[in-house]
This record gives sequence, C-alpha cells and structure tokens, in this order.
Amino acid sequence: MDFALSPAAEKFRARFVEWLDAELPEEWRNYSMHGSTFDEVVEVRRAWGRLLHAGGWAGPSWPVAHGGLGLGTEELTAYCEELVRCGAPEPMNSNAIGILAPTIMKYGTVEQKERFLPPMLAHDELWCQGFSEPAAGSDLAGLATTATHDPGDGVYRINGQKLWTSRGQYADWCYVLARTGQGSKRHEGISMMLMPMHQPGVDVRPLRNITGSSEFNELFLTDATAQDCDVIGPVGDGWQVANFALSNERGPRLIERALTFKQEQTKGLEDLMGTWDDGPSAGVDAVPDSMVAAHIDARVVDAMAHRILALTAEGASVGVLASMSKLIWSEGYQRFLSALVEAFGADGASDVAPFAVWQDRLLRSRAGTIYGGTSEVQRNIIAKSLGLPASGPR
Ligand SMILES: Cc1cc2nc3c(=O)[nH]c(=O)nc-3n(C[C@H](O)[C@H](O)[C@H](O)COP(=O)(O)OP(=O)(O)OC[C@H]3O[C@@H](n4cnc5c(N)ncnc54)[C@H](O)[C@@H]3O)c2cc1C
Repeated sequence: MDFALSPAAEKFRARFVEWLDAELPEEWRNYSMHGSTFDEVVEVRRAWGRLLHAGGWAGPSWPVAHGGLGLGTEELTAYCEELVRCGAPEPMNSNAIGILAPTIMKYGTVEQKERFLPPMLAHDELWCQGFSEPAAGSDLAGLATTATHDPGDGVYRINGQKLWTSRGQYADWCYVLARTGQGSKRHEGISMMLMPMHQPGVDVRPLRNITGSSEFNELFLTDATAQDCDVIGPVGDGWQVANFALSNERGPRLIERALTFKQEQTKGLEDLMGTWDDGPSAGVDAVPDSMVAAHIDARVVDAMAHRILALTAEGASVGVLASMSKLIWSEGYQRFLSALVEAFGADGASDVAPFAVWQDRLLRSRAGTIYGGTSEVQRNIIAKSLGLPASGPR
C-alpha cells in the first residue's frame, strides 16, 4: 500500500534525496552489519550521525528550537521512506535522540536542555540506557539499584547492577533509573538521572549475543556518581518520566521498522526467485505460503505504522495501537525471515551473500520480541484494553 503525500512533503523529499545522493557514501547504502566487527559498525553509525548533523538533517522530530527539523507527519514519512529506501545505517545515538531527548525536552530544566541536547544530536557524546536489571526487565518497578544523595558533594552515589545495556562500552553518558527513596508502592521513590560513563565506579562488561558480537553489556555500579542537578524531572517521580521515555520507544519508531520490513520482504522474494535457475517450475519452485503471509504481514504493519504517525501528528493518543503494532511487527518480521531462510533450502546455510546477510538478519530479529516490551507483555496490555484478564506473573 502506498500513501500519497502532499506536494509540500514531496518537495521536502526531493531536497532530502538530492542531499542523500550527494552525501551518503556508496559503501553505506544497503548497509548490513554482517561481515563487520561491532567496532567497525559503531564507527560507521557514529560517522553517519555526524554527517546527518553537519548537513542539517538530524533530529527529524525535534523542534527547530532544539536544532531539529520539526517535521510534520508527511515530511517525517518522506524522510523515513528515503532513509529506508537507500538502506542507510542507523545513527549511533538514535535511541537517545528518539527516547531520551523528548524526555529531557518535556521534563528537563533549561540548563539540562542546553547542556545535553546539542552534543547528543551532533554525535559528540554517545548515550546508553540503564533501565533493566537482573531482576527488573518486564517488571521494571522491581529495580534495586540505589542512588543516595550526598548533599556535601552535590552528587548521587549509585550502587547496583544494570543489564542488557546496549552500546554501553561506547557510551559517554547513561540515563539511569535508580531508587532515591522508599515509597509505599514499588514504583515510587525511583528517579531518572544522567550519569557519566567514564568514571571509576562504572564497570562495563560486554556480553556476546547470538550473532557472536558484543553489542550489549552488564553494568556494575559501585559508588558511581551523577550530579544532583542531572536528575530528569522530580526526584522520586522517575516512574512517570521513564514511562514517558518508553512510550517513545514503543510507538513512533515503528515507521522505520515497518518500511524496512516491507522493503526487505520485496528484496527477499527477489533473492529467493534469483536462486531458481529457469524461473519457477510447477511443483518444484514456488513461492511458499509463508512468504505470501509475510507479504500480508508487512502491509498490515505498514498501515498501522502510518496510522500511528497520523495520530501522533494530530496530538491524539496512540493507545493500545502501539502494543498491537509492536507485536505484529516483531512476530511478523521473525516469521518472514525464518520462512525466507528456510525457502533458500541448503543455500540458506551458506556463508556468502545474500544468504549470510539474511541469516544475520534472522538472528538479530530474535531480539525484537523482547526489547521494548516482550510479546507476552504486549499481549497483556492488549488484553487489558479489551477487559480481558492478563496471563503470566502479576
Ligand atoms: C537486544 C536487546 C537490547 C536491549 N537493550 C537495552 C538497553 O539498552 N537498556 C536497557 O535498560 N534494557 C535493554 N534491554 C532489555 C529489555 O528491556 C528487557 O530484556 C525486557 O524488558 C525483558 O526483560 P527481561 O529480559 O528481564 O525478561 P523478563 O522480564 O524476565 O521476562 C522473561 C519471560 O517472562 C515473560 N514475562 C515477564 N513478565 C510477564 C508477565 N507479567 N506476563 C506474562 N509474561 C511475562 C516475558 O515475556 C519473557 O518471556 C535490551 C534487550 C534486548 C533483547
């Protein structure tokens, strides 16, 4: 399904395409992490973030006052479509730009906005997110990391362990959730603060993921400090701040994933048919039903993503649609990649392109049903919205 955009949005698109044609290096087009070390990937993603910033194309959803493009829905759609179409790498700070920055804009002080937003957008400072812990993932209110105020030094001393901290080994700063007090309920007494990573109390230990590369980490915090002026929002009220941050992760970022799914589904089918010597022969080579289902899934995800964008632009609540689209995208994308690699047959196990690239994508897609809220958690949110009981631990 294609969505027609206004002439103004198409004009904007033409300007962006012109810039991309001139500036996006050829080797970064149709970018795949396969075959590169994660250090190399980080270098490319940081350099791309810097290039977008230097060209004046960073921060598409950020207000112009903060150095962003302040795009409306249609321009944002065109922007995302063009990035996906040329297969540009994801800017290194995209998590912070999309999740932390809106949170600082909403809850931060003037000083915090001035101090942290410009170097984040410019990729001069890299960020990681320190929310999850060994006993606090889906149940984030179970977090045990403490931050004790030391008024003499004007700092919080942070102690505890964080887990799955993506890109933590490259980060200059971490936005951390920690307990600054006791409340009568578990989600009370939590604060969100900005913590420098380069200090003695921060021990980053990389973990290997299913592709063999180390992209997330354990983070051991022993009297690590954060300035008390670097708490975002009210002290002890970090739960609502964190939920606002996470709502940015679950909703608006879906458009890029949806467009990528649609584009990869088309390309995957081409690659599959490219393995058929003389075109399909009945009973031997045929597009499996699972690939047809993937085609439908990709279009459904695309339609939902555009609906979310439109609602966001109207300032309307996305509500349970965010959970529905995350669920359908993550599970549909995994099903598509599994079906494709299986349809390649013996070739699917080959370590040459394009097969190895699809294997890599398949392995990476496994995380999609976990981060940003697991599938079970999304199903519970949807069930609740329908007045149905949740399943699993309460
Ligand atoms: C690739 C990747 C990158 C990540 N990056 C970061 C990061 O940078 N920073 C960060 O803070 N975190 C990060 N995370 C962590 C992520 O947020 C958590 O993995 C996620 O919240 C799930 O928590 P958990 O892993 O502790 O699993 P658990 O919450 O322990 O869940 C285990 C299983 O139990 C199920 N379950 C749990 N509760 C319920 C329930 N109430 N009802 C039904 N079923 C339930 C889950 O669905 C799951 O199947 C990342 C995760 C991944 C996979």
